[in-house]
Amino acid sequence: MSSSCIFCRIGSGEIQATIVLRDDEIVAFRDLSPQAPTHLLIIPTRHVASLDRAEPGDAALLGKMLLVARDLARKEGIAADGYRVVTNSGPAGGQSVFHLHLHLIGGRPMAWPPG
Ligand code: AMP
Repeated sequence: MSSSCIFCRIGSGEIQATIVLRDDEIVAFRDLSPQAPTHLLIIPTRHVASLDRAEPGDAALLGKMLLVARDLARKEGIAADGYRVVTNSGPAGGQSVFHLHLHLIGGRPMAWPPG
């Protein structure tokens, strides 16, 4: 855990967030600035700075994060219409918090490609 990382501090419970799922490896919570009716963030509790910094040994964790996103989409009632799961990596990728996270976004139609 990095004490300067806001998502590490949410993962440890030190900083409050609207948590929707927690297990021994993953925490999911509502984005503070939602871009759609459903906007959740799915993070590993262990600090990994970005997808680019993930290691081969993180493969199971990454797969689990995707399945958690799928399960949460069903739970949030957005799976039937469709949803988006995205991870921004690095400044040009739009990453602003340097702790790996998946955005689960849904509840409205979305365009492609992104801006
Ligand atoms: P990214 O730009 O991909 O790194 O996404 C970071 C996301 O974290 C943004 O959508 C922010 O709105 C969100 N965020 C930042 N701080 C918090 C917080 N304390 N609680 C919930 N979401 C946050």
